[in-house]
Amino acid sequence: MKSGYIGSVRFYKNMILLFFIIAILVPTGFAIGYRGTIREMKGEISGLQEQSALLQQLEAENAALELAIEEKEEERIRLEAEAPDYQKLYPDFYAPQPLAATERKENVVYLTFDDGPSYCTDEILDILEKKGAKATFFVVGQSREENLRRMRRIVEEGHAIGMHSFTHEYSMIYDSVESYLSDMYAVFCQIKEVTGVTPTLFRFPGGSINGYNSALYQEMIAEMVRRGFVPHDWNVSSEDASGSSVPTSHIIDCVVGGASGRSRSIVLMHDGAGKSSTANALSQIIDRLQAKGFQLEALTPQTKPILFGYRDDK
Ligand SMILES: [Zn+2]
Repeated sequence: MKSGYIGSVRFYKNMILLFFIIAILVPTGFAIGYRGTIREMKGEISGLQEQSALLQQLEAENAALELAIEEKEEERIRLEAEAPDYQKLYPDFYAPQPLAATERKENVVYLTFDDGPSYCTDEILDILEKKGAKATFFVVGQSREENLRRMRRIVEEGHAIGMHSFTHEYSMIYDSVESYLSDMYAVFCQIKEVTGVTPTLFRFPGGSINGYNSALYQEMIAEMVRRGFVPHDWNVSSEDASGSSVPTSHIIDCVVGGASGRSRSIVLMHDGAGKSSTANALSQIIDRLQAKGFQLEALTPQTKPILFGYRDDK
């Protein structure tokens, strides 16, 4: 006879087994489910930790940057306090746009005429035009209308105009940095007013280092360069100012001979009273330089200058 399964010993054994199976499986199932969630949470936590570390790093960088700005500002204030007073003079006395004067062309001759405009200028300009040559004029202050017209003509015909001096009085302009600036500001204003061109180039009367400015030339150059202007000395002299009437042939020999051994020359000539030999020599000078393959060009703000203190005249 078959006894009932329910209530039998086997029944209770199975019940106990079932209970244990449930007691193990259910928590295990939950545990497995939670493990996924925990893993996700851990991922989120480590993401948050990374973000917080990044934030801390950014905050540190920001603080360092603020400190650097503060230090820069303090340095600016200190430099401003230490700067010579003449830096504050003539706040509109600046080159139009500071450009790097590093252009170094080959086979080029830059003819430059100091001290004009004068009664020689028109003849010089006529010759330059006829020969297809460009040049640079470092002009001085003018009061006569015909010379103001010549200043305009220089610019209109595509030549470069630069500042030389207003008064050309060595003892006055080289007395102090202030008096030099005052004189240069006057010629700067006149060029701007008469031609509409704001000049960038300039040449010291007597060259950047001369017998009158030896104590102050470095300060004068530094201040003009700080204002964006480009100084030009020369590496070839025409010697047209070496006497009252220099023979034309001597001027030609000096210029053509001087330029011949060089890849680039900046030639000192004069456009001034008593210098008609220069105009007479010019035609032949240009012919002979062009025959040697030289281009005759005007200086630009980018042209690498030749300065006595930094010789570079190969
Ligand atoms: Zn001069």
